[in-house]
Amino acid sequence: MIEIENVRKSFGPLEVLKGINLTVPRGEVLTVIGGSGSGKSTLLTCINGLEPIDSGKILVDGIEVHAKSTDLNKLRQKIGIVFQQWNAFPHLTVLENVMLAQVKVLKRSKAEAGAEAEKQLKHVGLGDKLSVYPSRLSGGQQQRMAIARALAMSPDYMLFDEVTSALDPQLVGEVLDTLRMLASEGMTMICVTHEMKFAREVSDRVAFFHKGVMAEIAPPEELFDAPKDPELRQFLAATH
Ligand code: ATP
Ligand code: MG
Repeated sequence: MIEIENVRKSFGPLEVLKGINLTVPRGEVLTVIGGSGSGKSTLLTCINGLEPIDSGKILVDGIEVHAKSTDLNKLRQKIGIVFQQWNAFPHLTVLENVMLAQVKVLKRSKAEAGAEAEKQLKHVGLGDKLSVYPSRLSGGQQQRMAIARALAMSPDYMLFDEVTSALDPQLVGEVLDTLRMLASEGMTMICVTHEMKFAREVSDRVAFFHKGVMAEIAPPEELFDAPKDPELRQFLAATH
């Protein structure tokens, strides 16, 4: 379970998260929508401790992310994060890229890491790309490699930050299909996305962020079909 309690976060004078309260139970698929600069990415980077917070608390399975005593490296192994773009190591094959952190961080043997990398790459549909170099992959394939790399660390939670926004439209579908597959397998996920159709289909709940406030959170049919917050109504009207 991820518990976010009254989290505030500023960059200099700009308050980016203004007291966020949110609990994400195991197995939930939560999507986060909202305009540019509303704090969506900042929320994800706070959850896995990449960014400090000013006040409040974030707990992952009861462990306080920003407590001094917390072993962040260990905690981060529970939480996979995939961004818009991931710069793979160009001189390593796809398989080696997916093996690397397993060997360095989890101290898995090469044999074990290789087997896990192969399993996850097959899982995301890249079983035929194990020995090619990342530059030979399409954008959609590179994103699926990034997802396989995160999954190979055996995370309990996955955070996705607009993983399809840098892709050509014809490549978006294959990456969303991969996310749908993970959702159907019961992975606990927080997905920041601009893909409203995807959000509607895959989410247990959708959260709308506006200027650092979580202005509305509801199951998709409620949030999309009967939005209450005026800013959300405007946002949805503009994205149609
Ligand atoms: P987008 O949809 O454009 O990705 P977002 O909702 O993810 O937007 P954030 O990236 O969380 O927005 O940014 C929230 C605000 O914080 C923005 O105004 C942004 O400029 C600012 N910000 C984010 N990161 C930093 C940083 N490292 N230093 C200073 N300001 C930052
Ligand atoms: Mg963002």
